[in-house]
Amino acid sequence: MERRVSSRRNDTCGPEWFELAFRACYLDVYARRDGDAAAREAAFAAEALGLGTGMRVLDLCCGAGHHVAALRASGIACVGVDLSRELLALACPRGPVARCDMRGVPHAGPFDAVVTFFTTIGYFDDEGNAATASEIARLLATGGRFLVDYLNPARVRSSLVPESLREVNGRTIKETRSIEGTPRRVLKRVEISGTDDCKPREYTESVRLYEPGEMAALLGGAGLEIDSVHGDFDGSACTDSSPRMIIVGHKAGGTPGARWRGGREVFRQIRAGGDRNFAYLFGNGGEAAAVDPVAPSRVLGAAREAGVTIRYIVNTHGHHDHTAGNAELRAATGAEIIAHEAAGTQKDIAVTGGERFKVGDTEFEILATPGHTPDSICVLWDGRLMSGDTLFVGKVGGTGFGADARAEYASLHEVIGKLPDETEVWPGHDYGTEPSSTVGHEKATNPFLLRPDFDSFVDLKRNWAEYKREHGIR
Ligand SMILES: [Zn+2]
Repeated sequence: MERRVSSRRNDTCGPEWFELAFRACYLDVYARRDGDAAAREAAFAAEALGLGTGMRVLDLCCGAGHHVAALRASGIACVGVDLSRELLALACPRGPVARCDMRGVPHAGPFDAVVTFFTTIGYFDDEGNAATASEIARLLATGGRFLVDYLNPARVRSSLVPESLREVNGRTIKETRSIEGTPRRVLKRVEISGTDDCKPREYTESVRLYEPGEMAALLGGAGLEIDSVHGDFDGSACTDSSPRMIIVGHKAGGTPGARWRGGREVFRQIRAGGDRNFAYLFGNGGEAAAVDPVAPSRVLGAAREAGVTIRYIVNTHGHHDHTAGNAELRAATGAEIIAHEAAGTQKDIAVTGGERFKVGDTEFEILATPGHTPDSICVLWDGRLMSGDTLFVGKVGGTGFGADARAEYASLHEVIGKLPDETEVWPGHDYGTEPSSTVGHEKATNPFLLRPDFDSFVDLKRNWAEYKREHGIR
């Protein structure tokens, strides 16, 4: 199946440095970012934030997923997001991860904690960095905690090495560093030579140097209050010579400030009430589609905020808790309703699976996935599967034990199971320990997908209440 890759570039400006830097060669440039270091850092974060089993944590800019893996190993429901496809492919086996710009995280939240390791929130200009801080605040429950691991500006100033050269895995990496501009930014020119497989071969990292007071203002502006500042992952105090500036705090009451409005790509998971229903808004280039928009005012608000016009409303199936917002959203936007031809609800475009529709300069595809209902469909867009009530995180859609279960089994294995492992799974209800997952993660952990044949699949359905009790599943 062809998968379209959307461009999130501004055509006139070219790619940003962080779109170039975090390719596979990142692991060579930052050879020390290994699993052992991440395990120590994650352990410190868990301690400092008071994280416990089952708590929902977002790792903002999770990279190759080492922190996600370490937190999950201690029972914390950690999910990651990152912009780099190359790093997410490495992160995918380590836990549920999704791709996004950190100024526009798709998850609805709320999370118990947001962590961000290794200097991430200063990539943009001051407005963009403020948008990132606002995203952290938006994603957190009131009182939810955060950990921001950042450059220690005093240490950077006193220990900056203007130029260095090293060999890693047969590659020569030349790094040239300087502090420039107002406000101050640390620039690092990276040039890679010695092998042909590394692209790009040169780029310049540019990170805002935040003085402690400026960092407090950045976070405070988003409603994030600082509780403590540490100089390293051993919990020591932050002094001028500390390697890091690690800020631990919480979200105060009230609402965060302005959200990021830039960027062409939009993907939002929206809490839609009901039985923990999720609606979705996605699009590119000013146009969008809404999936199961049962909270039409929230979907409209998200569209306004993102500056997109809703062209389509897609219903993953005809159940009321997925279609109840259709009429209101259609009246407000003029969008056409797409639903399976077997759906008993009002529709403008009847589909049977395989159809493609354009939003902006990207396409989404309808996959027929009967089972939960005969009219169940999933929406595939840019590596993301909006899976309706066919597949949940750790669960599957309700059916009887006959032909409907057999159809669902086939949909799960022959349709969804054939998608690439890194395909993100965005379900119709928040029934799992995490709000999203990946096909690979579900294949490895979802008890229904782990059943080797149809009979044992149905067996699990019959005994699901007991299985849930035994395994402590809510
Ligand atoms: Zn349903």
